[in-house]
Amino acid sequence: AFRNLIVGVQEKVPLSNGNSVTYINLDNAATTPPMHAVMDEIINFSPWYSSIHRGTGYKSLLSSDIYEEGRDIIKKFVNADEQKDVVIYTKNTTESINLLSYVLAEKDDKQVILASDMEHLANDLPWRDKFAIDYVTIDKYGMFSLEDLEMKLKHYNGRVKTVAVAGASNVTGYKNPIHQIARLSHQHGAKILVDGAQLAPHCPIDMKGHESPEHIDYLVFSAHKMYAPFGIGVLIGPQETFQKQEPFCKGGGAVELVSHQFIEWSLSPHKEEAGTPNVMGVVALTAAIKTLMSIGMNVIDQYEQELIHYTIHKLTSVPDLKLYCCAAKNEDRLGIISFDLPGLHHELLAKILSYEGGIAVRSGLFCAHPYVEKLLGLTPQKLAYYHQKPELPFPGLVRLSLGLYNNSNEIDLFIDLLSEIAQNKQVYKEKYQTEC
Ligand code: PMP
Repeated sequence: AFRNLIVGVQEKVPLSNGNSVTYINLDNAATTPPMHAVMDEIINFSPWYSSIHRGTGYKSLLSSDIYEEGRDIIKKFVNADEQKDVVIYTKNTTESINLLSYVLAEKDDKQVILASDMEHLANDLPWRDKFAIDYVTIDKYGMFSLEDLEMKLKHYNGRVKTVAVAGASNVTGYKNPIHQIARLSHQHGAKILVDGAQLAPHCPIDMKGHESPEHIDYLVFSAHKMYAPFGIGVLIGPQETFQKQEPFCKGGGAVELVSHQFIEWSLSPHKEEAGTPNVMGVVALTAAIKTLMSIGMNVIDQYEQELIHYTIHKLTSVPDLKLYCCAAKNEDRLGIISFDLPGLHHELLAKILSYEGGIAVRSGLFCAHPYVEKLLGLTPQKLAYYHQKPELPFPGLVRLSLGLYNNSNEIDLFIDLLSEIAQNKQVYKEKYQTEC
């Protein structure tokens, strides 16, 4: 039934043999297709949208209301603190974390950010030039190590400013115990940022409110991974954090009054949103959120969990396939599964799946280079070697990632082709190797 919610699930794409097949999108962790409800809302609102905030025309007033009400809808979606938290609209998760890193940066080089080995580069690189950064290690299953977090929090003895952690990995799909991480972080005087880019479309998120010792201080996510278009994301956090700084991006809309002698900045979130705001982005994101909430995030989670177990079970039957995501325990996870087929380069395998079956997956390091490098067991020496020889094909993985509209029929078609490739590696290699 969820399939009917999504635009473009019937599209046919060409294969290398000249035939065409219905596209199977198993690359939802990168970007999801939009929902009909989202595109309908964009079309329906298009005669009404207008520049907001200072306009007094009816359309401007309507657009302003929708833009501001969007913040409340988003707060409800993640149970943010109604009084203390603000929702800042950004371009995407990457911009949200860059903005937060700028806001939190102080001229005190003793402050530490604790990220983890499993972070997307968006939750690693923005911190590096502004703080001392350290990484919570992963355990033998590739999971976030709570023991190491506790050790590092003790080691830094009150110097950790923020623990910046993925809600779920975009490589292995592992969900991190964010509330336990929050409790530990708060006990040691640190705050927590959850990168919710992967979590938001798949399961409920509960920021819990500031009174709870397990509350999430900062949360970020992107609309384009949750069935709305590109170009809008959010940063949610306590207003007082943002009030302390001059804005990262300066211009109209962020100020109350300016003369050549003084600037009076607006209150957050407006202070953080200089320039003409992305009203249509808010319309799209809130339409997606309303649809997800009307289904129920628990219902979506439950459906996806069944499909995840089905997919993993089927994958274990593919000859030679190595899975990088399935711990020897009942892990808490999303439908993001990484694997490789020894003897076939990851890029080549992804290409074959596309050209032979119209199946979209992703290959490489998934913007989480240190994590994949660790999963692959690449030593610093090996990495240095590859660094010196950029012409060599770099190791990596193939990743499939599910959305709420995928089904077991698509998984069967994918597994059939993958098994066929695994059994005839040499044939496919010769056919497609020209470029990879
Ligand atoms: N964090 C995670 C966990 C992600 O999966 C992604 C996208 N792959 C990002 C951050 C960055 O998101 P965006 O490109 O929308 O900024």
